[in-house]
Amino acid sequence: MEGGIQRPLPRIQGRRIISAPRLGEPTTSNANHVTAGMTSTALRAPQSQPPEAHSLLGKLNGPWHKRALQAFMIIVVVHLAEHLVQAYQAYVLKWPLHQARGVLGQAFPWLVHSEVLHYGYALIMLVGIWMLSPGFVGRSRAWWLAALVIQFWHHIEHALLQGQAIAGRTLFGAPVPTSIVQLWIPRLELHLFYNTLVFVPMMVAMYYHVFPRVPDAARMRCSCALRSHPATA
Ligand SMILES: [Zn+2]
Repeated sequence: MEGGIQRPLPRIQGRRIISAPRLGEPTTSNANHVTAGMTSTALRAPQSQPPEAHSLLGKLNGPWHKRALQAFMIIVVVHLAEHLVQAYQAYVLKWPLHQARGVLGQAFPWLVHSEVLHYGYALIMLVGIWMLSPGFVGRSRAWWLAALVIQFWHHIEHALLQGQAIAGRTLFGAPVPTSIVQLWIPRLELHLFYNTLVFVPMMVAMYYHVFPRVPDAARMRCSCALRSHPATA
């Protein structure tokens, strides 16, 4: 029956029941448009959350994303700082290479000389970037995935070093375990370079994640965004 006053019956779509809008109410698409931004999650009823939202990965990229990213970034920054201190010790203080071990390496020299710890860190970094990646959407996602690709290669280089340490044989006839790009760039500089190369796209991704464009903000399931800005900005 056609009539402007009578309210149509709710439509059933899949397992969700979508109530037809009352007269004067914005439609669902209009509502999304009007409130696109951080408040859009408030529109979703709990039962409309995808099932994966309740898994560990779902929580890590939803309600726990902010805390998980903060913890992860502290680890990343501390590790990068150690590489910078090491470079400072070698280049500015002119310490012999085997003594330029960063801050922690002064107290625990085995930290620097343990290939398995270097490999372990590269692996944790790779897994961390990968696990936290679904939370990144739009422009921030492209940058975060760039960091993932670079870290994947960095991790392969460490796997090669680790493999040589386990096998007790080195590649390319070198006196110490040697990775591929190390054929052209010495280890201290190379790994400072690798860590910086991963860090920069991570920082750009974080910027776009914390200050997303409105369309990106509308798709975010986490609470990381401080404010959104128009897509045209
Ligand atoms: Zn987030």
